[in-house]
Amino acid sequence: VTKILRIALPVPLRRLFDYLLPEVFDSARLIRGVRVRVPFQSRQLVGLLMEVADTSSIPLSKLKTVIEVLDETPLLPDDIMQLGTWAAEYYHYSAGEILLSAMPKALRQGKILDDQVIILANKKTEENLPILNPAQEQAVAHIIQHQTNFSSFLLDGVTGSGKTEVYLRIIDNIIKNNKQVLVMVPEISLTPQTIKRFRARFSEPIFAFHSSMTEKNRQHSWVAAASGTAAIIIGTRSAVFMPFKQLGLIIVDEEHDTSFKQQDRFRYHGRDLAVMRAHLNHIPILLGSATPSLESLLNVERKRYQYLSLPTRAGNALLPNFNLIDMRKTPAEAGLSLSLLASIREHIDAGNQVILFLNRRGFAPVLYCIHCAWMATCKRCAARMVYHQPHHLKCHHCDAHRSLPTSCESCNGSNLRALGLGTQRLENSLKEHFPSLSILRIDRDSTSKKNEMQKIFEQIHSGKPAILLGTQMLAKGHHFPHVTLVGMIDGDGGLFSADFRAIEQMGQLLLQVGGRAGRAEKPGTVMIQTHHPDHPLLQILLKEGYQAFARLLLIEREKFFLPPYVHFAIFRAEARSEKRANDFLEMIKANFTQNAVTILGPSAALLAKRKGLYCHQLLIKAEKRLQLQQFLKTIVQHIETKPLKFSVKWSLDIDPVVVL
Ligand SMILES: [Zn+2]
Ligand SMILES: [Zn+2]
Repeated sequence: VTKILRIALPVPLRRLFDYLLPEVFDSARLIRGVRVRVPFQSRQLVGLLMEVADTSSIPLSKLKTVIEVLDETPLLPDDIMQLGTWAAEYYHYSAGEILLSAMPKALRQGKILDDQVIILANKKTEENLPILNPAQEQAVAHIIQHQTNFSSFLLDGVTGSGKTEVYLRIIDNIIKNNKQVLVMVPEISLTPQTIKRFRARFSEPIFAFHSSMTEKNRQHSWVAAASGTAAIIIGTRSAVFMPFKQLGLIIVDEEHDTSFKQQDRFRYHGRDLAVMRAHLNHIPILLGSATPSLESLLNVERKRYQYLSLPTRAGNALLPNFNLIDMRKTPAEAGLSLSLLASIREHIDAGNQVILFLNRRGFAPVLYCIHCAWMATCKRCAARMVYHQPHHLKCHHCDAHRSLPTSCESCNGSNLRALGLGTQRLENSLKEHFPSLSILRIDRDSTSKKNEMQKIFEQIHSGKPAILLGTQMLAKGHHFPHVTLVGMIDGDGGLFSADFRAIEQMGQLLLQVGGRAGRAEKPGTVMIQTHHPDHPLLQILLKEGYQAFARLLLIEREKFFLPPYVHFAIFRAEARSEKRANDFLEMIKANFTQNAVTILGPSAALLAKRKGLYCHQLLIKAEKRLQLQQFLKTIVQHIETKPLKFSVKWSLDIDPVVVL
């Protein structure tokens, strides 16, 4: 019988490719997961052997032959093969692309690794460990008891409650049992102190893994994990595909953070895959947050996750006081109310630091002609250009930029105005109010240069009075012990958004940003500028806390058939013309129906045009996940096997975090 080799290839098509056995081969090498080199169209590709079969749906005479089998044993361990295959099914994505991207570049190119893992000894500096409070002790003991089996734990701890200390104690126990730990965090380059803190605690080797590392360093971490040299890997979402010799625990910190979801190409959720991975490895997983996602809270309610809580701040730190500033009644200039200004002055005069939060970078979001109402827009996107100082217009969707026009591009008039408030403008007005104070701006523009973030952190940790002003980058788990006042410049974003998740995210952000205040011995104050101080959800969030707020949101989600009670997928189509994008989706809607599935749309995406392409979408929802999956599978198979009349770029987003 002729044997057929089924190969996963790094191409977008969601299927395996059949090949004939090579002329010369060692049958002992035909193990699932070994790399093979094959001819594909006019090139050669490196793929992975997935199956050996007896038959093919393609005539044998048309099949090509494998050029060579590259490995004696698979380079990806079995759990990664399983996780990748599962993810390919679940997210309807190419298994070849997923599995090959789980390897260092050299392996993807068919080379071998000749890495000597150099271990940098940690200088363990922390010897006197803090005393745990009873809630911390209970959480640690509980997880240590359950370390030999799969279970999911949600660690719900208010900001400053000492979640990291809980992680460190559990990790200590796991690595003493000669097992490895994977710690996943939303953003690593912004939080160098996370790794610092781990290195101060353990003498065992710790490696980082994230996309802003060089390929060489990433490969180094990969080898360290696979060989068992690394005791701890701290990484971002892509670290979920790291190979380990003996993984004993996964921790996902700030599990609610939407940056665990990849927003392009392979749109996976790092947290959700981490839970699947723990399941495949029969190990515990710990999800931690001060503001858990509604998905995780529902999993607790349905007894899929065990709930652990840290209700009080560690040590002597107190939770901050929240104050609403009614912007309808308070005089303000350049977005700063006089009462916030007065508080800033008070805290600075007392020798403390202040954080101001504004989620809009640049100088002003709109450049406007007062004569003819023209606004500067991007030529490739349906979006306004943002004015950046000193003299640029930038599109935040496609990175297009041009120099600031001196006159209106429509009427040639010279009365152009910058409308609205961005972080640069706020920085300018703060410099006028506090000329001798250091004002540190933290956003994507100010930290794009290498080591810039490090310099800013050094200034913050010096403890000298300063104002830190920034975008959501500031909300990501930093520990700023000298900050006693946090001001939210625009507390309304999200309250009236059409995206059903916006209010959940706004609540999380308010508490996370507020949680930066008063984390050490100094009490903290949070001031929120709002035009809607009576909004019921805002009131509940601040008076009764996140739990009550989340419970209310869950009731609404259930009532309106929204996730996590039902399952969503978005089918997106992008094309040069609006009609083509729309027609493609209309074709899908007309040809595929199923009673258990509801299709809404097609409609233009919120950003209706991006990089010159029109973007339309279908929202597909179902009560049962399986029904949604089967429905999508039928569509995807149909589109991929029939030659396409439509020249569109399409994509599928399962469990989208942005639905507009
Ligand atoms: Zn004009
Ligand atoms: Zn653009």
